[in-house]
Amino acid sequence: MARMRIVIVGAGFGGLSAAHSLAGADADVFVIDRRNYHLFQPLLYQVATAGLSPAQIASPIRAILRQAANISVTLGKVSGIDKDRRVVAIDDREIAYDRLILATGARHSYFGRDEWESMAPGLKKIDDATGIRRRILTAFENAESTDDPEARRRFLTFVVIGGGPTGVEMAGAIAELARVVLRHDFRRIDPREARIVLVESGQRLLSAFPPKLSEAAQVSLKKLGVDVRLGAPVTQCDFAGVAIGNQRLETATVVWGAGVMASGAAYWLDAQKDRIGRVIVEPNLSVPGNPEIFVIGDTAHVQGLNGSPLPGLAPVAKQQGAYVGRVLRAQLAGNPAPPPFRYRNWGTMATIGRRAAVADLGWLKLSGTLAWLLWGLVHISLLIGFRNRLIVTLDWLWSYVTFQSGARLITGGGSH
Ligand SMILES: Cc1cc2nc3c(=O)[nH]c(=O)nc-3n(C[C@H](O)[C@H](O)[C@H](O)COP(=O)(O)OP(=O)(O)OC[C@H]3O[C@@H](n4cnc5c(N)ncnc54)[C@H](O)[C@@H]3O)c2cc1C
Repeated sequence: MARMRIVIVGAGFGGLSAAHSLAGADADVFVIDRRNYHLFQPLLYQVATAGLSPAQIASPIRAILRQAANISVTLGKVSGIDKDRRVVAIDDREIAYDRLILATGARHSYFGRDEWESMAPGLKKIDDATGIRRRILTAFENAESTDDPEARRRFLTFVVIGGGPTGVEMAGAIAELARVVLRHDFRRIDPREARIVLVESGQRLLSAFPPKLSEAAQVSLKKLGVDVRLGAPVTQCDFAGVAIGNQRLETATVVWGAGVMASGAAYWLDAQKDRIGRVIVEPNLSVPGNPEIFVIGDTAHVQGLNGSPLPGLAPVAKQQGAYVGRVLRAQLAGNPAPPPFRYRNWGTMATIGRRAAVADLGWLKLSGTLAWLLWGLVHISLLIGFRNRLIVTLDWLWSYVTFQSGARLITGGGSH
């Protein structure tokens, strides 16, 4: 009998975890991704704020899966799925499957205001991060060059939209860049005068965390000099600045961290989806009516024990990938199927700056230095590849001790 063909689309946290759990299985596994590298998204904000360089948070997919002889990697962008013929369409080719795992993640959402994207880029890819880094560093350069005080004020105003983990991390990191890292680098401006505004339409930051930790995050941001605006939706965004409610803020640099939308998997499958486009899956993560197709990670809508959908987090995607791997291994061995998927929540964290973070471990809520140390430890241990871990640790230690930041390069986009 022919060996089972398992196709995994997406080599992010979910797809890679599924691939790892199928390494050595009695099946041919094909991993497809539109990029040739796995990206550690939780540290993207460090690239955007010149703390790390892109290669430190990305690893080639082929190298990661090199040891698994039954797994092949294909570079290509999936554009559709034919469920009847059981094929995945990539560019001008098709790849057949017996079982399919879709782990294509999520992208930004501008709540119907897609025209804001060019003014307020979001952070999802390496190109987004280097583009934001270019905008931030160029704003300081322009402030140094201009003689017009109004223009200088505009260049030294940075607005981050969205008070979730990405917005909080970005606002904290821009504040540190201005107040600590760049403070001696300019002659005509004092980067410490930069104004960093974090705008959140809800009543508190980090709404997925307990209120006590939201408050701790707000206090830490205020200490860094970030102007936090709560209950304030952004109503307009253009090249001159943003409007927050009735107030106008002139700025040259806006970063979007407010909303996400699942990848197009629900559309490819013509499957039932939720408000943000996630495929509503069965308790074993398969698609209703198509038990041979599984959807995991940011693209899947899975009910948690408390009745609300599981959040878009790396550990959720990883555990789901490993689970589907177990389901398929059981099928291959003719064993009974494992019980429905259950997410084990070991805790969530968000960092705010040097020596400030919040961590919700369920039984323990931490903020401040201890939470920050834990955050650093977890993020370094999860980075793929010994070399990346070592280099990031050394880089962080170096910038911590010297107050230097290693990747302050303005690149791409004609550079200026
Ligand atoms: C800036 C940022 C910070 C974050 N911080 C944290 C954090 O601190 N902690 C945490 O737990 N989570 C964090 N997250 C969320 C976490 O990164 C996601 O929940 C996780 O990546 C989801 O895994 P996934 O496998 O579903 O998707 P992803 O990891 O996004 O992987 C999707 C993969 O699919 C590929 N792909 C997409 N479409 C196609 C296509 N058409 N064809 C081929 N390939 C395709 C992509 O190239 C990508 O490799 C953060 C996310 C961002 C953006």
